[in-house]
Amino acid sequence: MSEAPTQVAPGVHRLGNALVNCYLIEDGNRMTLVDGGLPGFRPQLVSYLQSRGASLADIDAVILTHAHSDHTGMAELVRTDAPATVRVHEADEQMARTGKTHARDGRMLPYLRHPAVYRLFFVAGRLGAARTPNITELTTFTEGDLDVPGRPRIVPTPGHSPGHVAFHLPDRGVLIGGDALCTYNPLTGKRGPQLMPKAFAFDIGQAQASLDALERIDAGLLLLGHGEPWTDGPAEAVARAREFGVT
Ligand SMILES: [Zn+2]
Repeated sequence: MSEAPTQVAPGVHRLGNALVNCYLIEDGNRMTLVDGGLPGFRPQLVSYLQSRGASLADIDAVILTHAHSDHTGMAELVRTDAPATVRVHEADEQMARTGKTHARDGRMLPYLRHPAVYRLFFVAGRLGAARTPNITELTTFTEGDLDVPGRPRIVPTPGHSPGHVAFHLPDRGVLIGGDALCTYNPLTGKRGPQLMPKAFAFDIGQAQASLDALERIDAGLLLLGHGEPWTDGPAEAVARAREFGVT
């Protein structure tokens, strides 16, 4: 992906870079930021909003698929500057508040032979991943529809993190899957629908089981935290991920 944000569905915009995505949902003249990307995405967000005749003040809410630092980057800054509320599943609340991550299901060592690892660390480092501000005020959720612009439906998909969720926009045919799946593996560099690697996962078995929830959703466009949008439906993405196996 080029660094330029793009509209990927009516009123749904993809921001970020080739390694990390976040999304903006427009609903009338109000907006929801889905995931906070990396702190260094902020100038891109501000200039993209400007190019569309909008500003940070039009963002009402930041909703998080989970609280890993490459998904919370801009959240605290948008919370204070828009201002906006930040919402996360209750099982990821402490991680969002403290920046302390959960135990992981795999070690990093086996991945260090892949050049993609170094690219990820370099890019994430340059964009401030290690300096992600903790989120000091949060609203938590568990299930149901979120009363924020776009009215996303929560799809609990734990495993990658304890409180991981996807967000479904049924009226737009869009499913934002976070890191329940990816189409670019940031540690191995492999492309195509697959689970995120074990070394980032809280419980890879639980992440595999959560694919059942995504498989059932009817959506023409699947948007993920890492990699290109997927247009062949969640069921096909899940089938390919199962075939791919765990990395
Ligand atoms: Zn993650």
